[in-house]
Amino acid sequence: MRSIIIFLNRTCPVGCATCNVNASVDNTEFLDPEWIARFFINIDRFRSKQYIVWTGGEPFLSFDSLKIGLKLAAAYGFKSEILSSGVWVQQHPEFLRDLKKSGNYNLRLSLDAEHQKTVPWEYVRKTVRESSKLGIELNFTLRHIPNEHEFTPEFYINRIKTEFPELYHLNRDNHRWIHVINTFGKDTQLSDINRKLKQRCYLGFKDVVVGFDGYVYPCCGLLGGPAKRCYRLGDALITGYDEIWHAIRKHPVLSLIRSKGPAAALSRFDASFDHNTSVEHMEPCDICQIYIQHLKEFGFSERYS
Ligand code: SF4
Ligand code: SF4
Repeated sequence: MRSIIIFLNRTCPVGCATCNVNASVDNTEFLDPEWIARFFINIDRFRSKQYIVWTGGEPFLSFDSLKIGLKLAAAYGFKSEILSSGVWVQQHPEFLRDLKKSGNYNLRLSLDAEHQKTVPWEYVRKTVRESSKLGIELNFTLRHIPNEHEFTPEFYINRIKTEFPELYHLNRDNHRWIHVINTFGKDTQLSDINRKLKQRCYLGFKDVVVGFDGYVYPCCGLLGGPAKRCYRLGDALITGYDEIWHAIRKHPVLSLIRSKGPAAALSRFDASFDHNTSVEHMEPCDICQIYIQHLKEFGFSERYS
């Protein structure tokens, strides 16, 4: 297990159509500061000493939890990274400075056509300015949006290069700096989708994913769907590394996704799938989730929730 990813809440005003946790301003699930303090007691149970990634929803909307989390992460020897859209920066540029008092952290901004519909480029500029002043490492996650030919990851990389040349030159050799998520679109060949679905999952099962409901999940994708309770691996205040792996190994769907890919999980239940649905969606995870949701129709949810 590498990092610990904590979803502080499910609240967000940005409203991305493909948000993997369906965050909105109406979703009020969150982890409060007391919960965060209890989570760190005996955190060695996860056998991880790498990053704690703070996300949501919008993690800056859980500011008190974030503050105590950064403080405890630093005290327990973890690095912290905050994954955010930056939507708050215009109204609250002081957030970055105030948080720095709690502990060091990196900031990772999501940058793509979908986010930038609500988060204007001016906000990105402001975040770059503020974080440079404070010496905060700033990283980006970019995504290919299907059928979006102008605002591609290359477009944003060029924009960063042109507008923030110092930042670009400082970071270009840092492998964590820019993370590009590939996606499927309407023009993706069915054979490519099938090939992907027959591959074991390399994205999930690596990190400890803690949901806004206080449970551990195998990946970020399976935390967002309506059948999420089928994929809970235990209470995050108690469960440790050994229990997580035991739960994955004995889980009839997760063990198959992990070793043979989502298609194997579906065929285990003699389920079929309409490929016309899948190409509406974007990332391999989205397609995996559609497959997995289909298991509901075969009585899986009832048996394993
Ligand atoms: S900014 Fe992030 S949390 Fe908010 S809607 Fe978009 S993907 Fe979801
Ligand atoms: S492919 Fe499926 S199991 Fe793997 S990370 Fe994505 S949603 Fe999770």
